[in-house]
Amino acid sequence: MIIVLKSGASEADIQGVADEVRQCGYEPHIITGVARTVVAAVGDETTQKTLETLASLPVVENVLPIQKRYKLVSREAQTETTRVQAGPCCFGNRDFHVIAGPCSVENLEQMLTVADAAKAAGATLLRGGAYKPRTSPYDFQGLGEEGLEILQTVKQRTGLPIVTEVVSEADVDPMRKIVDVFQVGARNMMNYSLLGAVARTGLPVLLKRGLAATIEEWFLAAEYLAKQGNSQIILCERGIRTFERATRNTLDISAIAIAKQECNLPVIADPSHAAGRIDIINGLSRAAIAAGADGLMIEVHPHPEKASSDGSQSLNQDQFSRLMQDIHPILTACGRRLPEPAGGSTETDTPTHNLLNRKESQA
Ligand code: PEP
Ligand code: MN
Repeated sequence: MIIVLKSGASEADIQGVADEVRQCGYEPHIITGVARTVVAAVGDETTQKTLETLASLPVVENVLPIQKRYKLVSREAQTETTRVQAGPCCFGNRDFHVIAGPCSVENLEQMLTVADAAKAAGATLLRGGAYKPRTSPYDFQGLGEEGLEILQTVKQRTGLPIVTEVVSEADVDPMRKIVDVFQVGARNMMNYSLLGAVARTGLPVLLKRGLAATIEEWFLAAEYLAKQGNSQIILCERGIRTFERATRNTLDISAIAIAKQECNLPVIADPSHAAGRIDIINGLSRAAIAAGADGLMIEVHPHPEKASSDGSQSLNQDQFSRLMQDIHPILTACGRRLPEPAGGSTETDTPTHNLLNRKESQA
């Protein structure tokens, strides 16, 4: 921290500030300029008391940080990008991962159909919400535990690792047996006790940027996870709220570039929630790759017109497969590669329709 003193500060004032700095556990270094004196406080800001309160001293003009407020997730702390292992998928290297699936888990048939199609098109992870944080309490809230069971069945059948949203600390434990990546949604980015509970599982966390969060607040939310000893974090830019009405949110491409530059974590983009419409998802996806994204999250539904949530922004399976072809030249230009999706279960070679019949007869 740098403490800038007001012009005309006396020797006693300067020594007074230096004493305060020492009491906070830092070593003060006084630098006397022509017009002003500054006190540089040297020490470990992760363990020492903050010096920001010194701004309230009458002789202090300003207190300026010289280090980033986020430490563990910064590129300053680690120049290499953290490798995040989500089931068989590694984020943070040359591989470009596409997470695809519907907004909400609705039934087994829907999930098996979309998982097969997403995998055939090149997606490497499957998404689908069992718990849905909806703006209106009258909207579909997700199938809950039944949704988790469906996700588990689809994971066994397809081998695709599962990314699904956690909205409550109480759900962390039942979910950890099934999920490969915990998604913390935009509405919960600042739910610090949820972040703590999720981090302590040790499982990877997909941390979406809050719809009104600054880039620094997003990185500090990631710092909460890392401070719990879990650095398996994937940042996800999903659009922020602006004055623009042509899109549901505004995809902040700058945030992707800044996150790649300032943080040591993999970064993905979710153009579906940013756009809120299907016709620009292709362009936004390509822009995100060009800005340095390590992956995409795309909402895909077998019948978007029948979806329980976010149908208007969900691609159908053909549109998704076209998107996967369209991103190819950009991925190649950016030196990225689409890895092979994981294989299905070796325990069963039951065709999808037999599995559906079996599940239905059990119901
Ligand atoms: C979602 O992924 O379906 C979702 C609710 O996302 P967000 O938190 O970005 O709104
Ligand atoms: Mn959604």
